Amino acid sequence: MKLQYRYNPDTCRFEPVHPSPTAWMRRLLVVSLLSACGAFGFFLIYTRHFGFPAEQRLAAENAHYRRQWHFINTELGKSEQRLSALLMRDNTNYRLMLDLAPLSPDQLKAGSGGAPVPLPEDVQHYDELKASYIRLLQLQHRLEVARQSFDELHEEADRKNRMKESRPAIQPVDNRELSRLHTTFGLRMHPIFGVLMDHKGLDFALPKGSPVYATGNGRVSQAHYSPSYGNVVYIDHGFGYETRYAHLQKFIVHPGQYVQRGQIIGYVGNTGVSVSPHLHYEVYYRGVAVNPIHFFQRDLSSEEYLKLIERAGQAPHSLD
Ligand SMILES: [Zn+2]
Repeated sequence: MKLQYRYNPDTCRFEPVHPSPTAWMRRLLVVSLLSACGAFGFFLIYTRHFGFPAEQRLAAENAHYRRQWHFINTELGKSEQRLSALLMRDNTNYRLMLDLAPLSPDQLKAGSGGAPVPLPEDVQHYDELKASYIRLLQLQHRLEVARQSFDELHEEADRKNRMKESRPAIQPVDNRELSRLHTTFGLRMHPIFGVLMDHKGLDFALPKGSPVYATGNGRVSQAHYSPSYGNVVYIDHGFGYETRYAHLQKFIVHPGQYVQRGQIIGYVGNTGVSVSPHLHYEVYYRGVAVNPIHFFQRDLSSEEYLKLIERAGQAPHSLD
């Protein structure tokens, strides 16, 4: 501190004046106040431009979370697009191919249905978060729709495959030369009774002992001797189909046995009401006899099929 001097007439000299403690305290107080004001002003200017440290840290965290949120929303959008493509392909290809009803526009769009899911309390007050949360719920709904649809497709494909293997689709005997078919289906003169009667199947003339094949996968429902059919085998193929193989010399399957298409079930004979060795073959669909000739497509070309139909039309009489 700069010293002050005062003139002393007694000594005729300038002598230093020492401030009193009170003056010292006053000066110290002034300096302290000025320093505090300066520091406070600097603090205000700094925080105005850069904010408080806690605010700076929160702002950095906020920016970080916003980037993460943007990333999640982008990925969410990609998932929505991929799922839409998947559902569209499912709807326009697979469900169409398998004769399944298409998914509704509502299912394709949002998969909504049932009671709306309440939003969590934390989400309800933030519009952006709420929008993302709803998108996520919709995605979950659509995933569930896709899962159910794929289960349905798998089940239907499996059912159709089983039906394809079970449906009668080949000739019940070896008829590669197409010469074994002896009669036609429908009304004809009975060879023994001599009256017009309905012939509910087709006759294949073959030597005794020729193998007879199951024409589709199924379960043997009956295998016994009947006065009219002779030794006969019934096969239940499921899906409304049944086949019967009559006048057998003998059968080698038993009721309850599962058989495959092409499996030998017996041999051609002349048992029951029959005029000569042959196989009488019937096909029933939902309990109604149908012309078996329409079920030979599996082992016939188009030309062979037409030739067989022509031959069936020329057949003079049945062998029963
Ligand atoms: Zn017949």
